[in-house]
Amino acid sequence: MAHDIQEILARAGREKWATGHFNFSELDQARAIVEACAEVRAPAIFGTSEGERTHVGLTEAVAIRDAFRKDFPLPIFLNADHTKSVPAAKAAIDAGYDSVHIDLSALPFEENVKGTKEIVEYARQRESGISIEGELGYLRGESKIQQEKIEVKKEDYTDSAQAKEFVSRTGVDRLAIAVGNIHGISLDEPALDIERIRAIRAAVPEHVALVLHAGSGVPDEQIAAAIAAGITNIHINTDIRVAFVRELKRALADDVGEAAMYKLDASAISAMKEVIKQKLVLFGSMNRIEL
Ligand SMILES: [Zn+2]
Repeated sequence: MAHDIQEILARAGREKWATGHFNFSELDQARAIVEACAEVRAPAIFGTSEGERTHVGLTEAVAIRDAFRKDFPLPIFLNADHTKSVPAAKAAIDAGYDSVHIDLSALPFEENVKGTKEIVEYARQRESGISIEGELGYLRGESKIQQEKIEVKKEDYTDSAQAKEFVSRTGVDRLAIAVGNIHGISLDEPALDIERIRAIRAAVPEHVALVLHAGSGVPDEQIAAAIAAGITNIHINTDIRVAFVRELKRALADDVGEAAMYKLDASAISAMKEVIKQKLVLFGSMNRIEL
């Protein structure tokens, strides 16, 4: 399956569009993602962070993917998002994830290279092939609506020369970069450094996909510019979480006597699907898959 995901990312690069990556911790979210992707005919990439997959269960997340693959004639990939340790990345590979984002970006460069390379080598031993994403640069914030200003410093940005070295020494298939993006929705409008994306794209071999995390809250024109500069995968989490919780709160308040969750969360599923479809259209991801 890694081969398939890399092929889709390469095609997106040639055709100047981006795939979406959406997170889930509930079956409702996973369903919203897959249904939205099927409706606009986009490849479906969903992922779980370490917190999300502790909630779902590693085995269960893989089983959910397999169940959706049976029901939808769609390329569906499961990514272990922001995996912060080598053992956790190996556990996701062993459980059957298609892809792992090994995020050792908080460690010194040499330790990041060493741990990421270990996971690339571990993944390469698998017959099925697994796509590995590394991360370089410091991404602030977490996936929620921030209550305070988050300062992004230029020295946290991914350096293009270091990115080139990181990619060649680790052998990663994808690279997550820090270019002014902040996890969550911040009080300030994020300002992506498009020039920096271009510089990293020029420095890194073409077969390595560039990934933009923290796409929630980034203005549409900046997303378009980032794709034009070479981003082929964009992560959206907070926007989906916000739509889910907002609609669920509304449903709970509207009918205090209702106790059936499947009735209470029906409108939340629709709201999440709308958000996801809007993003896929913005990314140029619609009508890319023959159904
Ligand atoms: Zn992220």
